[in-house]
Amino acid sequence: MNIAENIKHLQDNIADILSRLNRKDEITLVAVTKTHPVEIIETALQSGIEHIGENRVQEARRKIPFLKVPYKGFHFIGHLQSNKINQVLELKPFLIQSVHSLELAKKLHLALGRTNRTQDILIQINSSQEFSKNGFSFAEVTNAICQISTYSNLHIKGLMTIGMLAEPEVSRPLFARMKSLFEEIKALAIPNVDMQYLSMGMSNDYVQALEEGSNMLRIGTAIFGERSYGVNE
Ligand SMILES: *Cc1c(COP(=O)(O)O)cnc(C)c1O
Repeated sequence: MNIAENIKHLQDNIADILSRLNRKDEITLVAVTKTHPVEIIETALQSGIEHIGENRVQEARRKIPFLKVPYKGFHFIGHLQSNKINQVLELKPFLIQSVHSLELAKKLHLALGRTNRTQDILIQINSSQEFSKNGFSFAEVTNAICQISTYSNLHIKGLMTIGMLAEPEVSRPLFARMKSLFEEIKALAIPNVDMQYLSMGMSNDYVQALEEGSNMLRIGTAIFGERSYGVNE
């Protein structure tokens, strides 16, 4: 498994897709480093990766502070429990991508207030409406965003979703719906809401996600190979 080659291949592929779509906007590639040790993450950072994502606070705490290669952004992309809020904030995330409830947003806002900080976030949407997934429904999200926009320590920077893992084409209509929602919310011009990032697309469905308008991909397996759970968990 050659990480540098995988990254090059992925970047070339993304560039080809964008040129086919006539898109000139910038795509942020977040390498999802869960289960992979510090040295592997450093290899990725030396091979053109600038953004990294982790989905578990404990694991991130064991790795992110120990990286010796500089990076642009650490993204928290997993389920955030209220009792881990302070720990995740200590890691200075570029984005917390997984704000999935009003309660979590309020707790984040209050925790940030205590340390006089602000945090950029994405609003997670459960676009596939699977019970196992977190996130707002399409029906409730616009009201939720209006509410969260009043939390002055949080800055909403866009939307995030996880597609249907089984079949990438099944996710295409969900991704299309996410893009419409993204544009609708942008058009509302809500104060303190800046629809900059549409985070969708993983190793198996990033082509579909890009075709439907994603501008932020979260990719693990296609860079690092299959994950083996256990060792670094
Ligand atoms: C693990 C994970 C990814 C990356 O998945 P791959 O299929 O390995 O690319 C992306 N987003 C989230 C939220 C994840 O937990």
